[in-house]
Amino acid sequence: MAKNFDVVVIGAGPGGYIAAIRAAQLGMSVACIDEWSNDKGGPAPGGTCTNVGCIPSKALLQSSEHYEHAGHEFAEHGINLKSLSLDVKQMIKRKETIIKQNNDGILYLFKKNKVSFFHGRGAFAKAAQEGYEITVSGAKPETLVAKHVVLATGSNPRALPGVDFDEKNILSNTGALALTQTPKTLGVIGAGVIGLELGSVWRRAGAEVTVLEALPGFLAAVDTQIAAEAQKLFAKQNLAIHLGVKIGAVKSDKTGVTVEYSDSKGESQKAVFDKLIVSIGRVPNTTGLQAEAVGLKLDERGFIAVDDECKTNLPNVWAVGDVVRGPMLAHKAEEEAVAVAERIAGKYGHVNFNTIPWVIYTSPEIAWVGKTEQQLKADGVAYRAGTFPFLANGRARALGNTAGMVKFLADAKTDEILGVHIVGPMASELIAEAVVAMEFRASSEDIARICHAHPSLSEATKEAALAVDKRALNF
Ligand SMILES: Cc1cc2nc3c(=O)[nH]c(=O)nc-3n(C[C@H](O)[C@H](O)[C@H](O)COP(=O)(O)OP(=O)(O)OC[C@H]3O[C@@H](n4cnc5c(N)ncnc54)[C@H](O)[C@@H]3O)c2cc1C
Repeated sequence: MAKNFDVVVIGAGPGGYIAAIRAAQLGMSVACIDEWSNDKGGPAPGGTCTNVGCIPSKALLQSSEHYEHAGHEFAEHGINLKSLSLDVKQMIKRKETIIKQNNDGILYLFKKNKVSFFHGRGAFAKAAQEGYEITVSGAKPETLVAKHVVLATGSNPRALPGVDFDEKNILSNTGALALTQTPKTLGVIGAGVIGLELGSVWRRAGAEVTVLEALPGFLAAVDTQIAAEAQKLFAKQNLAIHLGVKIGAVKSDKTGVTVEYSDSKGESQKAVFDKLIVSIGRVPNTTGLQAEAVGLKLDERGFIAVDDECKTNLPNVWAVGDVVRGPMLAHKAEEEAVAVAERIAGKYGHVNFNTIPWVIYTSPEIAWVGKTEQQLKADGVAYRAGTFPFLANGRARALGNTAGMVKFLADAKTDEILGVHIVGPMASELIAEAVVAMEFRASSEDIARICHAHPSLSEATKEAALAVDKRALNF
């Protein structure tokens, strides 16, 4: 017998599980279907983010950063270690424990909010009188009928044409987060967020890392001044980054992976790596959804086509997160999820795409919100810029972490903050103040007039705001 729900959510990543919880909070009967399994075949809700994305990458970044600090920075503090080694298996075990805590946490939240969870693949069967019939295939097949359907089926890593991931030598994020030994040499194709983060993990763990990037400029989406500063700092860490390359043949055998490419001068090159991470972007995942059974429209790139409110072409079918247009970020998926649940409940849902923060969790971290200087120039917007280096910040000195800067961009006439860009310690946390400021359409003077605790990294934010008016106090 079919089970009836007000809302059925397909996918329990940050888009899906948050949509399910918010819809349940609003008094609707909700089911959430997710097919991700752990190594014992049990459910592992949380999607890419929890299982092979945000959470495990940050766990390994933390472990490898501790190792790097112990090896290179402790002595300066007078902490002397007699011997130091990295137990990669333990580092991976810790990561697995954190993943499990998150999986279990989501199952607990489903219970707490009375969301019915189904472990298996969800697919459209047909449009039904009361909405849509959805089948769940898996260990316990089910048929559900939903008045509203929220699709949050996420994304998959993009492979190089003709080069499949074997997750042994040629790795996607999944394999790169599960290595149990540090490779001696590691190639990374793609110097985007994922490539830089995963490359950093294994460089800190002792691998010799070479990053090959097709674009001629480093981190094209990042403010050019911040990107140039970051590139300089990564070079100091011996993260070899080659820009403007064209990848040719990639072959894997017992000895490793051979990559043929032409460099920025057009000269042919060949490199052999123990392992290769391919991080050239992600593609929307609609596999097995049976979109065609109900006439769900995809766009030309395979994303589920949605309007500004995440409505698909079908009545009462919504889609959020990586499977729709916009940045592939967990917090973007969550914001869309909450907005959709509220719209289903007849309330007002809202996502401000202008204030979605971006973070790259390298060391130093890179974070930004709003417009870059190059975008403002291209748009012909008159602006004033203010920067403040962490070198002049007392807390950064005490931390021994003085690389980088905070940069403010404000409208030349109104002083409204148009963008904030940070490369430096704890940029991921510092950016929140800028997001709040921009949500409230604050001016740089507003931030400059707010009392910030001393000594704190956030004083660099205040000083950069002061610098817009050329009156930084400590630089
Ligand atoms: C290495 C890495 C690091 C990242 N780090 C960050 C970060 O630090 N910060 C950040 O904001 N973002 C980060 N991301 C991106 C982030 O993981 C995604 O943006 C986010 O997971 C998207 O959420 P989602 O709910 O749309 O999809 P997903 O998290 O991909 O979840 C989709 C879920 O749907 C399930 N599913 C798919 N089809 C079906 C079906 N037919 N039936 C049942 N279940 C189905 C999948 O199994 C999966 O569990 C990272 C990504 C990677 C790969």
